[in-house]
Amino acid sequence: MKERLYLFDTTLRDGAQSLGVTFSLADKLLIAKTLDDLGIDYVEGGYPGANPTDTALFAEKRPLARAALTAFGMTKRAGRSVSNDPGFADLLKAEADAVCVVGKSWDYHVELALGVTREENLEAIADSVRAVREAGRESLVDCEHFFDGYKANPTYALACARAAHEAGARWVVLCDTNGGTLPHEVSAIVAEVAKAIPGDHLGIHTHNDTENAVANTLAAIQAGARQIQGTLNGLGERCGNANLTTLIPTLLLKPGFADRFETGITPDKLRKLTSVSRLLDEILNRAPDRSAAYVGESAFAHKGGIHVSAVQKDPRTYEHVPPEAVGNSRKLLVSNQAGRSNILAELERIGIAIRRDDPHVGQLLEEVKRRESVGYAYEGADASFELLARRLLGEVPQFFSVDSFRVMVERRHNALGELITVSEATVKVRVAGEVVMSVGEGNGPVHALDQALRRDLGKYQDYIRSIELVDFKVRILTGGTDAITRVLIETHDKDTHSRWFTVGVSPNIVDASFEALLDSITYKLLRDKAPAPDVLAA
Ligand SMILES: [Zn+2]
Repeated sequence: MKERLYLFDTTLRDGAQSLGVTFSLADKLLIAKTLDDLGIDYVEGGYPGANPTDTALFAEKRPLARAALTAFGMTKRAGRSVSNDPGFADLLKAEADAVCVVGKSWDYHVELALGVTREENLEAIADSVRAVREAGRESLVDCEHFFDGYKANPTYALACARAAHEAGARWVVLCDTNGGTLPHEVSAIVAEVAKAIPGDHLGIHTHNDTENAVANTLAAIQAGARQIQGTLNGLGERCGNANLTTLIPTLLLKPGFADRFETGITPDKLRKLTSVSRLLDEILNRAPDRSAAYVGESAFAHKGGIHVSAVQKDPRTYEHVPPEAVGNSRKLLVSNQAGRSNILAELERIGIAIRRDDPHVGQLLEEVKRRESVGYAYEGADASFELLARRLLGEVPQFFSVDSFRVMVERRHNALGELITVSEATVKVRVAGEVVMSVGEGNGPVHALDQALRRDLGKYQDYIRSIELVDFKVRILTGGTDAITRVLIETHDKDTHSRWFTVGVSPNIVDASFEALLDSITYKLLRDKAPAPDVLAA
């Protein structure tokens, strides 16, 4: 018999505290549904009354299949009855399955921030729990600053946790609010608390200020806690919350946890984890963290020739878990360290069927090595690699050609007397025998060129409407006047929510960027099976 661990997601409440993160109501509903479908037990949706979105979220029933939708709020004010505290009364009216109230557990904060006595604070915690239960909701208490409070005054911190438990809270959650506690301290403190409150009523909520949020959570589980709080992708204020995207596969796949515990997440649902992680990035319009554990694009990427051939013989040689288990995939990087095996594996991944002894494989390998010797790098530019391979196989039509381009950069004072820099680009493109000239403006030369190139691509215009340039990185490869510039461009397709990377190299930064832009557009046309120009002309 395995013991049950309960997963509590606070992406939509604590995660929404991060810099630059705002969720709309539609975003929140989509994320809540996704978490519910994944098998999370509690979805903390927000703080009704704190902002219009959260108030709207809890204004009506939001049926989830299995997860308990949880509203967050403060304990009722000390020295007032529940009915005399309008904020608390509103919290009880929220359409939620569970209510999590945050209560102080550090005596210093009780006196300084609340300005009430320690006894009044204990009463406020207990009264709040009772009121939540009387309102027919499951009751949770976040013990704010629990670990710092315990270090300062263990008796009082424990009294706060006990007050919540004895009043009937389903979960008493120990919070490392400032994120500064280390794993050995969490182990010792949770083990002490578990002597007074059974572990199957204890939760753990950690922050990542020492990069130990995940380690602290695992330490708390080993010491007895059975509810795990965290966020997708570790989203959260400052350095983030405990990362559920890392914790979930660790709990499901690692010996010591997998054989002792079970969660609401099945192996089948675990295979959706990578796409769930990417969905959050899409909603936040952020580039996914490539080196994220388990779900990052590099998490199962192998570059060195020896690693690659070993991984192909047995993936366990350089992989701690199978990438498919979390819905990720193995990536064998194409680079000048590569041999035929990398090239073949990469061709297979992008769906090019080719025989091992096909002479094109050797030609492609030679071409990659030649290009990398002059500055190209394909390991970060999968779309350019695919184009290179398909060009060699004669599969890429000449959709359009560029006769010429010109870019002007002007620094001047505007009518208000402010110093501004503007760029203007002109591009002459030949599409299906027709010459099109377009002008674009931008805050820099690459932006202006991108605007000009995409303003009018004749009959292909519809194919490129949904793409946008989201990032470009410039790298100067050699010093002095012989410097070579490598530009890596990231393109995002708003229709398919996909991203791809292209590369350009030239002694001239604008020229290198232009090459990467052309690859990006050509890749989109090829992927969407845009007809070749002669078909269009007919
Ligand atoms: Zn927090």
